[in-house]
Amino acid sequence: MNEQALLGDEAVALGAIHAGLSAAYGYPGTPSTEIMEYLIDNASKEDGAGNAIRAQWCTNEKTALEAALGVSFAGKRAMVTMKHVGLNVAADPLMNGSLLGIKGGLVIAVADDPGMHSSQNEQDSRFYAAFAFIPCLEPRNQQEAYTMTREAFDLSERFHVPVLLRMCTRLSHARSQIQTEPKRNQNPLSKTEDKTQWMLLPAYAKRNYISLIEKQTGLGEWSLAHPANKLELEARDTFLAVITSGLGGNYYEENLEDFVKSRFGKVPARLHIGAYPLPEDSIRRLCEKAERVIVIEEGQPVIEERLRGLLPQRIVIEGRLGGNVPVNRTGELDPDVVRRGLGLPPRSNVLSAAGITLPKLPGRPPQLCQGCPHADSYETIKKAVQDLDPAEGHPNTALNADIGCYALGALPPYSVPESIVCMGASVGMARGAAEAGLKYVIGIIGDSTFLHSGITALIDAIVADTPMTLVILDNSIVAMTGCQQTMLASDKLRPLILGLGLNPEHLLELEAKKPLLEENTGKLKRELEYRGLSVVIFKRECLEAFRKRKKAEKENGAGD
Ligand code: SF4
Repeated sequence: MNEQALLGDEAVALGAIHAGLSAAYGYPGTPSTEIMEYLIDNASKEDGAGNAIRAQWCTNEKTALEAALGVSFAGKRAMVTMKHVGLNVAADPLMNGSLLGIKGGLVIAVADDPGMHSSQNEQDSRFYAAFAFIPCLEPRNQQEAYTMTREAFDLSERFHVPVLLRMCTRLSHARSQIQTEPKRNQNPLSKTEDKTQWMLLPAYAKRNYISLIEKQTGLGEWSLAHPANKLELEARDTFLAVITSGLGGNYYEENLEDFVKSRFGKVPARLHIGAYPLPEDSIRRLCEKAERVIVIEEGQPVIEERLRGLLPQRIVIEGRLGGNVPVNRTGELDPDVVRRGLGLPPRSNVLSAAGITLPKLPGRPPQLCQGCPHADSYETIKKAVQDLDPAEGHPNTALNADIGCYALGALPPYSVPESIVCMGASVGMARGAAEAGLKYVIGIIGDSTFLHSGITALIDAIVADTPMTLVILDNSIVAMTGCQQTMLASDKLRPLILGLGLNPEHLLELEAKKPLLEENTGKLKRELEYRGLSVVIFKRECLEAFRKRKKAEKENGAGD
C-alpha cells in the first residue's frame, strides 16, 4: 500500500488508473477538470507494456460518453468526466447507455457545484442516476473517492450498467492523504458476444428495458449491504433519526458532540448514505419509531423527496424542502449551515472569544484579466451597437452571450450581454430573437463553446439565412477552466464555417486589438446592417495561454 496526498479529483483519476482503465474522455468544467488533467498527465507513466491508457478532451460531453461506450463495447474499462451541467449534454447517451449490456466497466464521474461557485445552476447528478436506473456512488472524502472509483468499475461489469460517481466542489478541490492499492491489469480486448444487447431497435430496447428494471432488485440488495450505507441504531435515541449523505455526513459529525450535549447526551439514530439506489429497508428500520427525521444532504433534496413517499405521514421530515438544512433551501452546506439546521448556536472561535471583530473585507467580483482580448472585442461590440441605435435601452437589439471567460463582459465596465443561458445557447437564442423581429441581433460565443454546441444552431441559422451576426471570440484555448486545448486550431474555423454554407462575403476575421477599435467597429456595424447571416471572428490569444505557452517553450528550449 502506498500513501499519496491528492485532490479529490486526482484521487478519482488514480482510482481509475489503478482499476485497469483503458480510456478516458471528458469536457473541461469546474470542479471536474482536474480528473482528466491528472489522467492526461499520468496516463503514460502508469502504462503497462502495450497497454497504453488513452486520456483525451472531447468536443463535448455527449461525444465523450459515446466514445466511452465504444470502449466498453470492446470489453475495456472507460471513464467519462464532466461537470454537472455537462451531464445534460450527455443525457441522451446516458439514458440509452443504461439499457445496453455494458461489457467493459463504464464510470461517469460528474462533479456537482452546489452553491454555484462557477456554474449556472445547482443541479444534483444523483437525480440523473435515479432517472437512468443506474447506481451512484457518493464519496465523502478523498480516500472514498479513490476506493469508490475502483469499485465503480467492478460494479459496472457486475450489473452491466454504467455507474455514476458523484463528486462535489469541496471534495474535488480539497487535498488529503490517501492509501492506494495495487494496480489492476487492463481488460483484454473482447467484443461483446450478443450484439443485440447493444442495438436499441424497439424490439431489443423493450427487452433491454425489462432487463434494466429487473436489475433493480439486485442493485437494491447491493446498496443495502454496502458499507458506505451505514445504519447506527444500537444504543441510540430512535425517536430522532438523522440521515446524512456525502459531505453532509462530515458536517454533521463536526457538530455531533455539541448536538448530543444539547440533547442531554442522547445520540440520535443515524443512517449515512454513500451508495444508491437508496437503501430503502435501512431507511424504514431507522425510522420505525422516529417522530422526526433530519436529512443532511449536499445538493438538492434527492433523499428527502423520496422519504415523503416511503415514510408514514406522522413523521416530521426536516431538510432542504422544509427549509431547515439549509434554512433557505438553496446553496452549499458547511459545518455552520448544518449547525444552524440542528438548532445549535453559532460556534465561537478564538477571535470572537477574545472580543475581536474583523472588518468586513471588500468584495472581489471576478473580472476579465487586464489586457484580455475579450475586453477589446466587447468595446467594439458596444460601440457598434451604440452607433447603430443610440436610443437609451437599445430596444431593437439583442445581445446573447454564452459560457466562458467572456461571460464576465456582462459586468461593468462592459455590461454587453443580455442573456447567458447554457453552452451554445447564444447562437440559437440570437436566431430566435432575430426571427421574432428584433433588428440588430448578435450571438457572442467563444471558439471552444462554439465547437461544443454552438455549431449545430449555426447550421440552422445558415439554412434559414437568419438576419443576425454571430461573433466568435477566438482566443485559441479553453481559457476559463485553465487553458485546455481547443478541438480545432484557429485557422480551421474559417474553412469549417464556410463548409457549413455561409456566404464567404459575410465571414470576417478581425484582430481583437485596441488600436483597431474604430476600424473593427465599422466592419462589425456593416455586418449588423446586413439583412442576412454573418459571422465575425475576433482573434487574439488568451493572455494566460500566451504566458503558459511561452513558459513551456522556454522550458523546452524552443524560444527565448
Ligand atoms: S484567462 Fe484569458 S480569456 Fe480568460 S479573462 Fe484572462 S486573458 Fe481573458
